[in-house]
Amino acid sequence: MVQSLKGKTAFVTGAGKGIGRAIALALANEGVNIGLLARTETDLKETISRAEGLGVKAAYAAVDISSLTDVEQSVKKLTDELGAADILINNAGIGKFATLLDMDPEEWKRIIDVNLMGLYHVTRTVLPQLIEKNRGDIVNISSTNGLNGAATSSAYSASKFGVIGLTESLAQEVRKNNIRVTALTPSTVATELAIKTNLIAENNDEKYMQPEDIAEFVVSQLKLHQRIYVKQASLLATNPF
Ligand code: NDP
Repeated sequence: MVQSLKGKTAFVTGAGKGIGRAIALALANEGVNIGLLARTETDLKETISRAEGLGVKAAYAAVDISSLTDVEQSVKKLTDELGAADILINNAGIGKFATLLDMDPEEWKRIIDVNLMGLYHVTRTVLPQLIEKNRGDIVNISSTNGLNGAATSSAYSASKFGVIGLTESLAQEVRKNNIRVTALTPSTVATELAIKTNLIAENNDEKYMQPEDIAEFVVSQLKLHQRIYVKQASLLATNPF
C-alpha cells in the first residue's frame, strides 16, 4: 500500500530552478510543506509563488551550501518556519567540464565543495531531525557521471561518485532509524545546467528527460511503503537519438 505524503515537510536544495524546482512543486502538489534552499532569492521566490494555491506552507533561505555555518543558519530558519523535516532532497549542484589539466584548480575544487561537501553539510545538519522522528527519507541526486567517468568529467565525476559512496554508507548507518537514503543517477535532463554545459541544445527537445519526469519518479519512490526503499536508480531517456 502506498503512503500519503500529505502533511509531511521536505527540505529541497537547488529548488530555484531545474530538477529541484520540479521536485519541490511535485511534493507541494502532494500536500507536502516545502523548505527551499539555493543561492538566488528571486528564483526561490518564484518557486514559492508557483506553489501558491496548493494549500501547503512554503519557506526559503538563500544560501551557498558550500558553507557549513551558513547551511546551519538556513536550516534553522526553515525549521523555525515549517518544523522539522521528514524528507531531504539533496539536489543542488553545478556542472563544469574540461580536462583535468585545462580546468582551473579553484574551479575543480569548487565542484567538490558544492556537489559533495555541500550535500554533506546539508545532510549533517538535517539528519538529526529525521533521527529524532525515527523515520524519514533522503534523496541524493548523483548522475550517470557518478557511475562512469568520462573525458572532461574528472571533477564532476569525482563529486558524483562521492555522492554515491556517501549515500551507500549513510543508508547502512540509518536503516535502524527507519530512514531511507537513495541515490538517483539520471542521464541528461533538459535544464539550464544541461544547456550551459552543451549537453543539449537550447530548444529543450522533448526527447530528453524533463525535470518533471525526475520529480514524478521521486514522488512515487517516496510513496512506497516504509518497509521498502530504492537504494539507487538510473533514469535514462528512452530514445535520445
Ligand atoms: P540547474 O542549474 O537547473 O539548477 C541547479 C540548482 O542548484 C539551482 O537552484 C542553483 O541555484 C542550485 N545551486 C547551485 N549551486 C549552489 C550552491 N553553491 N548552493 C546552493 N544552491 C546551489 O541544474 P539541474 O536542475 O540540471 O541539476 C540539479 C542536480 O541534478 C545537480 O546536482 C546536477 O548535478 C544533477 N544532474 C543534472 C543532470 C542534467 O542533465 N541536468 C543530469 C544528472 C544529474 P543557485 O545558482 O541560485 O544557487
